[in-house]
Amino acid sequence: MKTPKTQVRRVPKRGSYDFETVAQILDAGLVCHVGFVTGDQPFVIPTAYGRVDSQLYIHGASASRMLKTLLTGIEVCVTVTLLDGLVLARSAYHHSMNYRSVVLFGTARAVTDPLEKNSALRAFTEHVMPGRWDQVRSPNTEELAATCVLSLPIAEASAKVRTGPPVDHVADYDLPVWAGVLPLMETSGSPIADPLLPAGIALPENVRCYVRQH
Ligand SMILES: Cc1cc2nc3c(=O)[nH]c(=O)nc-3n(C[C@H](O)[C@H](O)[C@H](O)COP(=O)(O)OP(=O)(O)OC[C@H]3O[C@@H](n4cnc5c(N)ncnc54)[C@H](O)[C@@H]3O)c2cc1C
Repeated sequence: MKTPKTQVRRVPKRGSYDFETVAQILDAGLVCHVGFVTGDQPFVIPTAYGRVDSQLYIHGASASRMLKTLLTGIEVCVTVTLLDGLVLARSAYHHSMNYRSVVLFGTARAVTDPLEKNSALRAFTEHVMPGRWDQVRSPNTEELAATCVLSLPIAEASAKVRTGPPVDHVADYDLPVWAGVLPLMETSGSPIADPLLPAGIALPENVRCYVRQH
């Protein structure tokens, strides 16, 4: 995975290229940002994704500009960012964030094989809410036709991870300023039932006990 493009140059000790690290960050995230250039214009579009083994899947309406553009075979760059904490230093200059992020390069291909498409759609649903795929109605023929699924190989990617306390100027450690890390994490609130939900339908266990994987 370490290529001239993925080599982390700024603070290289934070970079990592092994598949497991990249996959863990992808699995812990919910939203990716897809960057591509069409004409002279760069776009960075946020979207959901799923992973099956070494394939990252994104999907959307067949009419999506992003998906249609990616299918022309242009280079795409996908990023995922997990924000783990605010790093509060003694100087404004050294404020930072603790994070885990992935940058993935590649070209996308359309997923047309029905079995692969089904497995990708399952991965999207399970990525959002484990156990959900088996609880809900599967996509029908019309829904499958209206959904475009693209695959990107997780082959040329870098991960970058910052952990730990602030790194201040030596002279600043004597300043009477609180410094440290304020951890941040994604948590879920109490489930809100759809007002149109018929009476008697119980809240599933996986929703009731949902915890974001960190
Ligand atoms: C939440 C968050 C906040 C950040 N805040 C700042 C900030 O305020 N200022 C700042 O300068 N930087 C910040 N960074 C780091 C930033 O993402 C870049 O790593 C850094 O700016 C260096 O950019 P560059 O283009 O010079 O990287 P280079 O090291 O030249 O990039 C070379 C290659 O390294 C890899 N790479 C670079 N950055 C990342 C990354 N974050 N994740 C995975 N792979 C990567 C890519 O494959 C890239 O092509 C932040 C990162 C995160 C996730």
